[in-house]
Amino acid sequence: MPQNMQIQVKKKDSLHKLSLIIRAIIAFKNGRGLTGLKNLGNTCYMNSIMQCLSNTTALVEYFVTHSYRKHINRSNKTQGRIVEEVAALIKVLWNGQYKYISSKDLRYIVGQYQQIFRGIEQQDSHEFLTILMDWLHSDLQTLKIADSPRTNLPASQKAWLEFTKSRESLILRLFYGQIKSTVKCMQCSKESATYECFSNLSLELPQNANRCDLSDCLDMYFNGEKIRGWNCPSCKDKRDAIKKLDISKLPPILVVHFKRFYADSDGLGSTYKKKQSFVNFPLINLNMNSYVARSELRTGGSKMYHLYAVSNHYGSMEGGHYTAFCKSSVYGKWFKFDDQSVSAIDSSEVVSSAAYILFYSCLPEAPQSDVI
Ligand SMILES: [Zn+2]
Repeated sequence: MPQNMQIQVKKKDSLHKLSLIIRAIIAFKNGRGLTGLKNLGNTCYMNSIMQCLSNTTALVEYFVTHSYRKHINRSNKTQGRIVEEVAALIKVLWNGQYKYISSKDLRYIVGQYQQIFRGIEQQDSHEFLTILMDWLHSDLQTLKIADSPRTNLPASQKAWLEFTKSRESLILRLFYGQIKSTVKCMQCSKESATYECFSNLSLELPQNANRCDLSDCLDMYFNGEKIRGWNCPSCKDKRDAIKKLDISKLPPILVVHFKRFYADSDGLGSTYKKKQSFVNFPLINLNMNSYVARSELRTGGSKMYHLYAVSNHYGSMEGGHYTAFCKSSVYGKWFKFDDQSVSAIDSSEVVSSAAYILFYSCLPEAPQSDVI
């Protein structure tokens, strides 16, 4: 291609990109993103999660400006088809043309890869979210070229590279964090650390308490627990030990799940039940510093999280309904997304005993081009 033509093409590309960005900004300004999702027969679990993702500003910008297209990976199991459907759905939710739309194409595609999402039975929105995050990361992953030599890396970074296999995506950068698990021998004080990555934190609720605070659940999760019969590599014998969790990498978007469903054994077998406990949680200024490993705090700085979406579950294990409460980046106000109906709510209604999955962000509330 002659050089002047190359310049022309480049100019055309950048003009095209600019026009897409302007269109996305106009969409934000016009108050879009308030489109409902039709219930296709117990698909409220999926609708609830899609509305939470559709109110994740960095994701919306990524999809609406078509930036994701250059990252689509076709050589994986889902061949980029999941991200294409998610992007198509979010684009329609943001084009402002419809009061509500149907998510049947997305339902069809996710049903192709996971049988439980194919039928018309109610599913768990947490399970859907966890699988969807994994698919989206896989559909968007690109090879990251190492910018520093791999020797002498801290253990947490080595474990992160092992997990990501040097592949990365916007999904990984936004939602994935890492937990350090340290087991300490009570006899000789020998410590052994392992690392695990997460796309959401799954927290137990305190037993026999009808009310608690998010910090109670976080304390329970991160506080040390005694384990018996740990094979101490130093004592070369079974010892009592203390197992302690810390966050070694905090993601910009922190998703917190309450384990409301549990198996209850009554001698005849086990049935699934739901804890209806009221958990109080902050809308702004969630400080996670006390749960971050000391070695990471020095480099990471202080991060304050604000809540921008909640996936709610009402009812019991047998019969339930999901909705989403999301803070619109356009209006700066909270809305209730109940399948096809979308209505404004007061921020005082956001904290309720239906809260099931919380979406916190430490990114500024305005669109974030630099994250993409
Ligand atoms: Zn020991």
